[in-house]
Amino acid sequence: MRKGRLHTWFCILVLVLAIVWRMIGAPVNVKEFQDLQTPFWQARILLPSRLQRVLLQWIPVHLSELFEKEKTEVSLVNADDGKEPVWVNVFLAEENRVVKMTMAGYVCGVVAAEMPAAYHMEALKAQAVAARTRVMKQMMQDGCSAHEGADICTDSTHCQAYASPASCRERWGDSYTVYRDRVLAAEEQTRNCWLSYQKQPITVVYHAISGGRTENAQTVFSQALPYLVSVESRGEEQAAGFRQDAAYTFEEMAEKLSGLLGTVEPQDIRRTFSVGSYTETGRVHTVQIAGREVEATVLRALLGLRSTWFSLSCDEKGITFHQQGYGHGVGMSQAGANAMAGNGRSFEDILLHYFPGVTIENEMNEIFLQRTGYLRRDDNAAKQPVLAETQEAL
Ligand SMILES: [Zn+2]
Repeated sequence: MRKGRLHTWFCILVLVLAIVWRMIGAPVNVKEFQDLQTPFWQARILLPSRLQRVLLQWIPVHLSELFEKEKTEVSLVNADDGKEPVWVNVFLAEENRVVKMTMAGYVCGVVAAEMPAAYHMEALKAQAVAARTRVMKQMMQDGCSAHEGADICTDSTHCQAYASPASCRERWGDSYTVYRDRVLAAEEQTRNCWLSYQKQPITVVYHAISGGRTENAQTVFSQALPYLVSVESRGEEQAAGFRQDAAYTFEEMAEKLSGLLGTVEPQDIRRTFSVGSYTETGRVHTVQIAGREVEATVLRALLGLRSTWFSLSCDEKGITFHQQGYGHGVGMSQAGANAMAGNGRSFEDILLHYFPGVTIENEMNEIFLQRTGYLRRDDNAAKQPVLAETQEAL
């Protein structure tokens, strides 16, 4: 009788342990063990944060403040180099909340989201430095202007895209381990590298394919910057989507442009649509539509064009845009970076080519650490997000 009861308690204990094991996301099959980014015995340092995450889902919100208080004082030791990591408050657009993650983890997520992981290693490293510089600049200024409490958001049209480990798994499928290791290596091999101009992080912008030559910043963003000037970008022709056509009927165009032009007849578009002027780099600067001069960047946004580098052909139904390149064309061309890397150029060569005149720094400087509160942690209290959470690296 007594033995039987002991048996029951033992079974319950095993069951509870199994449930907790699963809840904290510990691996259960061979594949999950293989996918661990840190050796299993090292992963124990993640245990407190994972347990906390599980508990936070079950306890009332006001109790969670106790954990928040603790978090500002207790720091997780970075498994990679033993130093205290730099934390970034990231607004996850898809989940509509701010989370706290390490700079390293954040940079990996940006590289994974913003550049094909199959690109050459030196191109991935250039992307990692660009991503890090971007967030450093925002951390030194006011953070993301659209989301309070966040240094940066994951909305690619506002700040920078970011891919979570789960979305990377989905995106990369069977190649997950291979691509993840490439992205981790790109971050690790450039850790603490960033781009400066006059000792400050630069304004980093990049795009998929320039079309053969990048664009001057003032043409697109109305602000000239000495390191965001047009440069040649060779070897991009190999990139998928280097040239692509987009066709619209006159009716479609009238509808898409109605917000800007008001009611406009398809026939008016047919009669009047033409290129008004070109930029110095050969992209379309303005177009003429129904007696109005419209900036090509505005037209691009309204029609969803890939690029403002296009020529036109018309027939009785509508207009076809023969586009070259993909993106706004300012700063680093990712396809161009990949072509340079394929020709044996280093990530330093790539960055200095696309951002002429900048300096590649090898250490997070004291000004950055001080301004963001890492050397004076007390001042940083106001920057803590309401519901922070540790996100482990990719
Ligand atoms: Zn933002």
